[in-house]
Amino acid sequence: MEFADVIIDITHEKLDKTFQYIIPEHLRDSIKPGVQVCVPFGRGNRIIKGYVVEKTSVPEYDVSKMKYIDSIVEGSIPIESQMIKMAAWIKENYGSTMNRALKTVIPVSREIKPVTKDYISLNVDEETLKALIGKYSNDKRMKSRVRLLEELSVQKEMPEELVLSKLGVSKSVINTLHENNIIQIRKDTLYRNPFSNLEKKDMYLELNEQQKNVVDSIVGEMNKKNGARTHLILGVTGSGKTEVYMECIANVVSQGKQAIVLIPEIALTYQNIKRFYNRFGDKVSIINSKMSAGERYDQFRRAKEGKISIMIGPRSALFTPFSNVGLIVIDEEHESAYKSDSVPKYHARETAIMRAALTDATVILGSATPSVDSFYKAKNNEYMLHMMDTRVKERPMPKAHIVDMREELKAGNRTIFSNTLKELIDDRLKKRQQIMLFVNRRGYAGFVSCRECGKVIKCPHCDVSLTYHKYGQREYLKCHYCGYEINAMKKCPECGSKYLGQFGIGTESVEKRIKEMFNEARVLRMDMDTTSSKGGHEKILNAFSNQEADILVGTQMIVKGHDFPNVTLVGVIAADMSLYTADYRASERTFELLTQAAGRAGRGTEPGEVVIQTYNPEEYSIVYAATQDYIKYYEHEILYRKLMCYPPVYNMAAILITSDDRRLCGEAARDISGRIDRSNIDGLMVIGASEAVISKINDIYRYVIYIKHKEYDKLVYVKNGVERYIDMIPIYKDKLSVQFDFTPLNNY
Ligand code: ADP
Ligand code: ZN
Ligand code: ZN
Repeated sequence: MEFADVIIDITHEKLDKTFQYIIPEHLRDSIKPGVQVCVPFGRGNRIIKGYVVEKTSVPEYDVSKMKYIDSIVEGSIPIESQMIKMAAWIKENYGSTMNRALKTVIPVSREIKPVTKDYISLNVDEETLKALIGKYSNDKRMKSRVRLLEELSVQKEMPEELVLSKLGVSKSVINTLHENNIIQIRKDTLYRNPFSNLEKKDMYLELNEQQKNVVDSIVGEMNKKNGARTHLILGVTGSGKTEVYMECIANVVSQGKQAIVLIPEIALTYQNIKRFYNRFGDKVSIINSKMSAGERYDQFRRAKEGKISIMIGPRSALFTPFSNVGLIVIDEEHESAYKSDSVPKYHARETAIMRAALTDATVILGSATPSVDSFYKAKNNEYMLHMMDTRVKERPMPKAHIVDMREELKAGNRTIFSNTLKELIDDRLKKRQQIMLFVNRRGYAGFVSCRECGKVIKCPHCDVSLTYHKYGQREYLKCHYCGYEINAMKKCPECGSKYLGQFGIGTESVEKRIKEMFNEARVLRMDMDTTSSKGGHEKILNAFSNQEADILVGTQMIVKGHDFPNVTLVGVIAADMSLYTADYRASERTFELLTQAAGRAGRGTEPGEVVIQTYNPEEYSIVYAATQDYIKYYEHEILYRKLMCYPPVYNMAAILITSDDRRLCGEAARDISGRIDRSNIDGLMVIGASEAVISKINDIYRYVIYIKHKEYDKLVYVKNGVERYIDMIPIYKDKLSVQFDFTPLNNY
């Protein structure tokens, strides 16, 4: 007899374990890990769905009481055992239920019928056909049959939709002819092809020396028995990393394996994707979050059926059901979007490395500003490091000016543009070259406060300030955590003063002032407001790319991986904003944003310049960003991390405890941190419990405990202990929600 461990497909924590079922004789061959099945459940033997996690010949308990698997779910795509392993790994390492972990690795959870197209052809020989046509021609009511048969004798095969629309033959006639075996119907699955409107242009760039060296080295490792498996490319902006990825992909694909390319959603533009399409044609597919569930399902299905061998997409593309992945590329590997913001809070980088290990595949991480975490690992030989320090065709790096805005003020300039920036904008407008103005809005920009009593307008449900917005004539304040909105007030609700002001500079005011100052300039703005509609951000980028505007003003969105050859000036309006977030990575983020922003300048034939306006001209993240010197920045930053026992030198995890009961939440958090403390794990640091920086979201209170240890496994050990402890105490289990975050990017 054989048995299957089945996980019941409901997101109910209490059912988060496997149940054993007997595999009926007739299903023995088709049941394997990953197959979706129907099983009788509970006293009433209600039939519900579940996934087979494991198959075994050893029963775990009394076989006479064990139930039989009812059936296999028709039309479901079985998930590979690889996917089950990934889910188990995610559950263990990031804290989650197995159910949720499974739902994460099987991105299309609902069954969606593939679109099929029916084709009609004859099922009778020439002679029979003649006889039939003869017979039907005598009957007026049979006219449409004659039309169809005559047409088919010429066309051989016709799509059913054409028969219905063009020949005016009804569905019932088709059915009758089919039932009488006069015609046959062939069903063809149609895939919604995301590239259906693209024309393939063969493009092949001869790699330069620097690119060739990196490719040779990576491919060399791939073909070695115990070669390096994870590579980090530190390549300055414009050094041609994409060509390197494509060459490595070509190598893997030629060996019959598949490749996954992760690109941050914001950089998944037509322009970027097209490069892959031109090189690999129909072997490539993409997914993105704007696609319908059906479209995504189709792409995964094509992957599973071996119809494509390269998948490009954001984080979730990592779970493409390829059977033999040979390469996973993570472009712009420093991006915080690679970390999931909902449970399980997995990081695509680590998960990719784990997935790659299953099929002995290679991982390539690439960035001009690698995360300090990855560079640390490269330094410690966990990853193999490759450097690309010159731009293609020896294009120079942009020339940088750091402008001290305090000096500007002293000299009597009260505007948000320094004189240097104004002059350079003027110069570029005259030369008909393009300009990008980057408004760094991380942190507290946009909040509204009273200049008399100092009150900050906050969300009533969350412990965060509301952000000022303007849409047409409407001015309103919005909470970015829960969506709460109110119309902007004229007077301070605390003291009645009418001096309510916005703090920080927004993209809208930059746009307004630029238009006032250079009224002939054509300006585009790209931020949350102008890109909220479907395809909004693509539209703006295309317009700018087609040179329909001279200046693009925007938030972080504009700095990510775009390639506009005509941009020769980048202005950073307020470089400091991201320095003020309460987060140990504030400096890393500032460096990354500024370097990436500067990297947008001078990518074409004309050299570029960048103006960084700041109140902290000596801050090392700003100084090294201006010179695009990653190594110097890293060496400075890692000293600080060592000193403070922060990642990557130490591993750190956040335990977030939330509840709608404030008192219970605080008491439980302190109780839990006390227990962790008393567990006496050598070298473990416990910080808190304390109220989270954002102490309330949507009326749910938040407490946080940070734990740090040199070894990651010790943190996982603590997580498992906390999970067991919560399980033991009914009121905790009932009223608390506990989340783990092993790569806390922000302070909670
Ligand atoms: P990165 O991702 O490193 O910033 P890209 O891969 O986007 O750089 O390349 C920058 C530009 O240089 C692109 O327009 C690309 O088409 C071009 N390019 C890359 N490699 C070559 C090459 N070997 N010869 C000519 N042009 C190249
Ligand atoms: Zn006031
Ligand atoms: Zn809110």
